[in-house]
Amino acid sequence: MSGCGSGRNFGPRMKMDASLHLEKKPSWIKVRLPNNPVFWDTKSMIKDLNLVTVCEEAQCPNRWECWGQGTATFMIAGEK
Ligand code: SF4
Repeated sequence: MSGCGSGRNFGPRMKMDASLHLEKKPSWIKVRLPNNPVFWDTKSMIKDLNLVTVCEEAQCPNRWECWGQGTATFMIAGEK
């Protein structure tokens, strides 16, 4: 028997090089937590209205930007 869960080990074991994680990352790679009140207003409105959003369902990476401008895409028919 083969495949996932069979207990067999496929491929070489990978070892992490800890020194790679100690190097300073470039500034452009850092994501700042949202400090925009419009984002939080949009988020609470979506929650209060019990909306199902495409933004959340798709885990869209643009949420910080769109919600921060008061924009979201929701499904008219809800979850189904
Ligand atoms: S409105 Fe913005 S966050 Fe929502 S799905 Fe569209 S691009 Fe993504």
